[in-house]
This record gives sequence, structure tokens and C-alpha cells, in this order.
Amino acid sequence: MINDEGLRALEHVKKLLKDNAVPELSDDLAKIPLLVEIHTDFKAIRDVLYSFSTGDLSPDIRVRGIIPGCMKALQAHLRHLIWQVQMVEQGDFSQQVQFMGEFSQAFNSMVRQMDATLKELKQKEATLTALTNNLQNEVDLRNSVVEALQESESRFKYLASHDPLTGVLNRRSFLERAGAEVQIILARSISCCLAMLDIDHFKRFNDTYGHLAGDEALRHTVKVISSALRKNDFMGRYGGEEFVLFFSGADLETGIVIAERVRKSLAVSPVNLETGPVNITASFGVTLASPEKDPSDPKFIQKLINNADVALYEAKKAGRNRVVSFIDRQNSDVVVKNEGNELLSG
Ligand code: GH3
Ligand code: MG
Ligand code: MG
Repeated sequence: MINDEGLRALEHVKKLLKDNAVPELSDDLAKIPLLVEIHTDFKAIRDVLYSFSTGDLSPDIRVRGIIPGCMKALQAHLRHLIWQVQMVEQGDFSQQVQFMGEFSQAFNSMVRQMDATLKELKQKEATLTALTNNLQNEVDLRNSVVEALQESESRFKYLASHDPLTGVLNRRSFLERAGAEVQIILARSISCCLAMLDIDHFKRFNDTYGHLAGDEALRHTVKVISSALRKNDFMGRYGGEEFVLFFSGADLETGIVIAERVRKSLAVSPVNLETGPVNITASFGVTLASPEKDPSDPKFIQKLINNADVALYEAKKAGRNRVVSFIDRQNSDVVVKNEGNELLSG
């Protein structure tokens, strides 16, 4: 039969197993080495289990035996599981849990699902990237086509409106621009002038120096005249060696002064040919567009040009290299005033 001390020892072991707090080992029981060993091992096992239950897997299990052995195995498995979860977090979906029954199945199926979803997302991303690239290529292509079209359109517009040899406005564009500007200017009760110039003895120039030198002389003439014009004035090539000039906001007196300045600057700027410098002169006819006139007449500009041409003819007749103005009298008598060397009347 078990004695009293044995009963109290068993009672102590029961408390070790069931009580919340570790029971004190009384002095007399502390004299039983086996009980002290059981007490110490249980206390250690209880501490480790308590740590596990709060999620702390760090304690060292120093006790030997089946229970601590199982606890060690559980501790190792749980640590490995933590590491596996960390690997999954880093994208390693090959991780599989083997030791935890239903949990293993759920975990493994979750990882497989994540793997499949990620692969699907990557596939979709690749498709989307390819689509975006295709779209971007289409947009780039379209933009470059639009750009090329715009470029050729503006090139075409330029070619259609400019003289290819000298780069100034061609006759049609000059007439359009002059027609538009004259309406605006006269509507503001300001006047403007139109001048026509013709290079003197240009046939002789071509015959003497050749047609290519003649082309060079035409380019040179345009360059000199352009730089002698005021900011808002402009010129056009009327044909051959004839040019038209538009003097914005000028009365007749001012128009004659500008034409005279242009004439002089050409006369003192010889064209430099391979054979040496050659003088070029031109004759000018100037006419006025005054606010009393009706610029809505579709032939208005052409009439101004005809008037300037009449004056130009007189300048040629009077000896060339001069400016002559046309004055349109109310009675339509043509009076031509020589601004150069002699006075003429018609
Ligand atoms: P005038 O003083 O009376 O104006 O005499 P001109 O010799 O200048 O007049 P004419 O009308 O007899 O000759 C004009 C010349 O201009 C003839 C033509 O070959 C030349 N010409 C017209 N266009 C061009 C061109 O683009 N290049 C060259 N090199 N010559 C041109
Ligand atoms: Mg001519
Ligand atoms: Mg000429």
C-alpha cells in the first residue's frame, strides 16, 4: 500500500500537470531525488509549452524523453514552416508542407493557387505590354505619316507660292497677298504704293555672260532689293526679269523715295561673277493706291500693276535706271512724272 508521503508526492505530480502555477516543492518532498527530477523536468516542459502557446518558438529544450522529443520535433517543423512561408512571400511557390495533415493540404493548395494566379497575371501583363507596344508603334507610325504629310503639304504650298529661282513670291501669290493687304490698308484710310521694276538690258547681260550668270544676277537682284525694303513691304517676281514691290502705308511721295532707295542700292551693288563684278541697274514705275479708290474691284491690283507698268515703260524710254511715277488723273489722262533725270508727260 502507498504511504502518506507517496500520496503527497503523487498529489504534487498531479498539481504539476494541472495547476496554472507551478506548485512549491515542500522541504520533506524535496528530499526525494526522483520527485525533484520529475518536478524539474515538468517545470521545464511547462515553461517551453507556455512559450509555444504564446507563439514563441525560441526556447531551448534541454530535457530528454519522449515528450520533450515530440516538442523538439514540433518546434523544428514549425520553424521550418515559418521559413517556408517566408520563401513563399519571396515568390518561391515550390514550397510544400508535408507534416501537418489538413493544414498541409490547405497550405499546399493555397501556394499552388497563388502560383497559378501569378503565372496568369504575368501572362496577362505580357499580352498587355505587347498590345501597348503595338499601339505605341501604330501611334508613332501615324504621327510620322502626319508629320511627313504636313511637311510635304507646307513644302507644296511653298513651291506653289514661290518663285523657284529667287525664292520670292510668284506672280499669283503676290497678287493674292497684295489684294488682301490693299483692302485692309485702304479700309483704314491709309494709302499704299505698288512699284514694278524691270532689269535694264538684261538680254544683253545674258548674251554677254551666259544664262547661268543671268540667273545669278536675278538672285543677286532679289537679295539686294529685299534688304533695301522696309519690314512690312514685300516683293514678287512678276515674270522674267520683272519684279513687283508693295510699299505698305506709303503715299506716292514715300513710294517714290523707297523705290529710289531700292534703285540706288541695286545700282551700287554689282553682281560678282567668276569673271569679275558686273553692274546691274533697273527701271521702276511707281503707282499709288489711295483711300478714295474702291479696292473691292476684282481687277484693282491688276489695274495698279498696269499703271506701274505704264510708268515703267516711260522710265525705259527716258533712258533706264530711274524711277517714274504714274498719276491717275480724274479725267483718266495718263500723266507720267520722271523722278530720275528728265521730266516727261504723256
Ligand atoms: P530692257 O532694258 O528694255 O528691259 O531690255 P531687256 O534686255 O532687259 O529686255 P528684254 O525683254 O528684251 O529681255 C529680257 C531678257 O530676260 C530675255 C530673257 O532671256 C531674260 N530672262 C528672263 N527670265 C530669265 C531667267 O529666269 N534667267 C535668265 N538668265 N534670263 C532670263
Ligand atoms: Mg522685261
Ligand atoms: Mg529688261
